[in-house]
Amino acid sequence: MTVAQGSAVLDRDGLNALVTALVAQGRTVVGPTVRDGAIVLAELASADELPFGWGVELDAGRYRLVRREDGAAFAHSAGPQSWKNFLHPARERLWSADRTPSGGIDFTPEEPRTPSYAFLGVRPCDLRAIAIQDRVLSGGRYEDTGYTRRRGGAFLIAAECTEPGATCFCVSTGGGPAADPGYDLALTEVAGRFLVRVGSDEGAALLAQVPHGAADPDTEDAARAAVDAARNRMGRALPPVDVRALLGASLAADRWDDVAARCLTCGNCTMVCPTCFCTTTEEVTDLTGDHTERWQRWDSCFDLDFSHLHGGPVRASGHSRYRQWLTHKLSTWHDQFDTSGCVGCGRCIAWCPAGIDITEEVTALAAEADPSLDPGTET
Ligand code: SF4
Ligand code: SF4
Repeated sequence: MTVAQGSAVLDRDGLNALVTALVAQGRTVVGPTVRDGAIVLAELASADELPFGWGVELDAGRYRLVRREDGAAFAHSAGPQSWKNFLHPARERLWSADRTPSGGIDFTPEEPRTPSYAFLGVRPCDLRAIAIQDRVLSGGRYEDTGYTRRRGGAFLIAAECTEPGATCFCVSTGGGPAADPGYDLALTEVAGRFLVRVGSDEGAALLAQVPHGAADPDTEDAARAAVDAARNRMGRALPPVDVRALLGASLAADRWDDVAARCLTCGNCTMVCPTCFCTTTEEVTDLTGDHTERWQRWDSCFDLDFSHLHGGPVRASGHSRYRQWLTHKLSTWHDQFDTSGCVGCGRCIAWCPAGIDITEEVTALAAEADPSLDPGTET
C-alpha cells in the first residue's frame, strides 16, 4: 500500500520486517539491546533483540535496569553509549609503516571499511547530537573524512521519547522528546504498536517494503499525547537563564572550587557525551621497531596531556579542567559552532562516578551570580 500522508502504523511483526529489510540491503543494523546489565547499542539481527519489557532507573552516578510490565521496546532513556561510538569510533587506525630490508619505510594507508549503518531507536536528543557532530566533524574547515563517510551512508530511525529518565533535561536545552527533521523514519511507540512518520524518500521506500497499516487518528492522538506528556515530565532542568552568558561571566566563580573538590577528572563525562568530539593521535610501535601504526583515539579535556604545551599542561588543576569542559560545552561552543554543545541527554550525570550533575552545577553558578535564583532562597 502507499503511505498515507507520510505516516503509518507498524506492529511488532512489521518492526521485525523493517529490520529484516535493512539487513537484506546489506546494512549493519544497530539498536538498543540488553547486555551486561545495561541497555547498550549493538548490532541487531532482528527486532526481537530490542529491550522489550526493560526500562532504566537513573540518578546522579546511578544506572539500573528495571523490568516493565507493558513490554515496551523504547521506554528507556540514554544508556552508556551513543551513536558517536559508531560514527566517530573511540579508536581508528589511520596508517601503518614498515621498515624495508634496504632501510627505507613503506607507508600503508588504512583501507577505509565503511559499514552501511542503519540506526534503530535514535532518541531526539541523540538526533540533535548527530546534527552537532555533523557540523563539527563534517561541516567545517577540518573535515574528519572517516566520520563523513560513515555518516553519509547511515539510515536513521528515530524513536520519540515517551518515558524520559530522571537525568533527562532536553527541554531546557531547547530540544524536546519529539524528533526534529533529520531522520529517515520516526517511530512513536503506543501500546505495543509504532506510529511511523516518514522523513525521507529512502524512508518511504523502505516502509513500502514492509507490512504496515494506515495511521488512524486514535493512534496519532495517543502518540502526540504521550510525547507531550514526556515533555512535561523531564527529570531535571537547566536554570531559566541565559546559560551561554552565565558561563561566559563565571570564570572566577567560587563554585569551581566546590566541584573540583568532588571531580575525579576521570573524563567519563566526555566519553559518554554524544557531542564531545576531541581526538588525539598516537604512534604504536612493535618491539622490533620495524612496524609502527598511527591511531586516532578519543581524547578528553580532563586528561592532563590534553593541554600539554611546551613544558607542561596549561590546565593543570581539576578546577581549570572542569571549568573548561562546562564553559566550552555551554558557552564557547556557541562561538565556534553556533549551537550549544549540550542536548540534555543526561549521560554525564548518570555515568559520573562522583555523581556530579551538570544541571546542579549550572544552577549553583546561576545562584552565585544572582542570589535570588538560589533554589533555597525564599521569595
Ligand atoms: S565530572 Fe564526573 S565524570 Fe566528569 S571528569 Fe569529573 S568525576 Fe569524571
Ligand atoms: S553534556 Fe551531558 S547532558 Fe549534555 S549532551 Fe553531553 S552527556 Fe548529554
